[in-house]
Formats: sequence, structure tokens, C-alpha cells
Amino acid sequence: MSDRGSTVFTDIDWAKPGKQVGHAWLPYSGHDDAWGAIALPLAVIGDGQGPTVLITGAIHGDEYEGPIVINELIRSLEPAQVKGRLILMPAANAPALLAASRVSPLDGKNLARVFPGNPFGTPTEQIAAFIHDVLFPRCDAYVDLHAGGSSLFIEESAQVVVTPTMAPAVRERAEDMARWFGAKLTVITDNMGDPRTSCGAAAHLGLAAIAAEMGENGSVSPRGVKRTRECLARVLARLGVVPGALPDMPPASRRVRIVPRGGNLLSPGDGYFEPLHALGGTVQEGDVAGYLHVLTEPGLAPRELRFAASGTVYSQRTFGITRQGNNLCVLVEDEAEVAA
Ligand SMILES: [Zn+2]
Repeated sequence: MSDRGSTVFTDIDWAKPGKQVGHAWLPYSGHDDAWGAIALPLAVIGDGQGPTVLITGAIHGDEYEGPIVINELIRSLEPAQVKGRLILMPAANAPALLAASRVSPLDGKNLARVFPGNPFGTPTEQIAAFIHDVLFPRCDAYVDLHAGGSSLFIEESAQVVVTPTMAPAVRERAEDMARWFGAKLTVITDNMGDPRTSCGAAAHLGLAAIAAEMGENGSVSPRGVKRTRECLARVLARLGVVPGALPDMPPASRRVRIVPRGGNLLSPGDGYFEPLHALGGTVQEGDVAGYLHVLTEPGLAPRELRFAASGTVYSQRTFGITRQGNNLCVLVEDEAEVAA
């Protein structure tokens, strides 16, 4: 455990077996409640005789498939079904979830950009510190459920975070989790090795972790909920924490990485972007990606934006309105399998 202390406290008794559904409490001294706290749902199921696996949802408050499925697990799983322990945090950034916002309305911060957090920092930093200092050290594996949120259409995918100093055994465990999670794409990523993300921070601690993108556009995707249920059940069975039947082979999942040079198409100016390609489409360097329109000036021809690299369209901006620097599209390309 960290010696930084924790301002977030919990009614969960870590030594107690069985099923506990409680909260982590984030102290918050607001205008109408000087000494109150904000409830972050937290559940623990199992007796600890086996691996401990943490699952978080709503690290971003506008991504819903994860919280829906984690809450299903909290309601449906009985301690006898768990071999080890599950720690379930369906609404990690509850203030953001209640505001349907990627970032917290309390401090404007993105929980996936403040790890390892600060127990005496802003509310979002306090939540990160609780996850980092109190939850991560209790865990053998970590699954962080995301979706594209309000601003992204994105392909279903699991991301394996690779850090420069990662032990090969930890990388292989994370890759194995992603293989059995079995999303359409497995994205091997070193930019999420950014320790400010929860998975990046976990990876830096030597914890096998995956993050998954299971929906998009700030909506609830019926397919995304179904797939989250299936993929999560498979990885929990593979980890042995919720045993279940597994096929002989993991499902097919295309291994990719973000195209390192030119894979992020950023808008060069303001306007309204009209993309020409669908998610999953193959594009070549120099292809027209779309048009940046100035809709209030009909006489002005739209600006043609071209891809700076070849690849497969992994994500696209949802909003038509576009400011300079907005991410319009991310491309991925095939990645070789790591030697197991
Ligand atoms: Zn997210």
C-alpha cells in the first residue's frame, strides 16, 4: 500500500469474504454540504482464494456499456461462483457519469489523465489516488471498460498497454487477457503507456491490464452491451476468477497498432468536417479523408484533407463542428504477434 494516505474512504471490509456492495466515499465540501461525500459504488465478491481482478467502468462519464455490465455482475454473481475475488467499480467517476460528461464537472479533469492521482488534490485526482493506492495493490489483473464517449465513433477493441520497462511476463499476461477478451481488434499501444491513464498506471506497477472500447458516440450500444458481457465472461473465465467453459482457441481478433507516423488526422482549421470513409475502411496515404466546410460561406470551396499515411480507419470524430486541432480520424495497421 502507498504511504500517501487516502482521502477517499470505504465501507468495504477487505478482510471479509462473501459479497459486499458498498461505496467508496469521496469527501466533497460544497456550498450546500460542508462536510459531505460523493458516493462511488464499489463491490467485492469472493473469498480471495485465487486471483483478484479489478473491473472499472465510467472512468469517463459518457461511456455506458461497462457500467451496465459491471452492475449486472454485482447483482447476479454469488460468492460461490467466484474463485478468488472480484473488485467492481462500475461508476469510477460518478460525478462525471451523473453529468454525462467525459470529464468531471467538479474540477474539469479527465480521470484517465491524472493517474497516479493525488489524495490531497482535486476530486478527480483523489479518485485516481484511491484506485492507484488502495485498489491496484490488491489486484492480479485489471480490466478497464471504456467506449468512444461523446466525441468518437470507434471500432470494438481491447487495448494492451505496453510500457518501455514492462516485464515480458506481464506483457504476455496482458496479451493473453486481450486474446481471450476477443474484441474485433486488439490494439497494442504504447501511447496508453502514458502513466496518466488507469491502464498505463497499472502497467507501470506491473499489473496485467487491458482497456476496452465497447461502444461509441455517448450512446448505449445494444451490440456493445452484449459484446461486453460475452468478452468479459471469457476473460474472467480465462483468469480463473469466474470459471466458465472456454473454447479450445481464443476468438479471432485482428492485432493492430496505431499508425505511428501520420495515423492521427488532426484538423488544420475550424469548420464542419465531412468524412468520406467508414470505420473499418482501408485508406491509402494521399487519399482524400474528407472535406472541411465553411457552411456560412457558400462561395468558399471546402478544404480537402488528405491522409498522411495508409491504414484502417479505427476511430472518427462524431461531431460535425470542428475546431483546429480536433482529432478527425485515427488509423491502425497490422502488428506482429509478441513471442509468447
Ligand atoms: Zn473512455
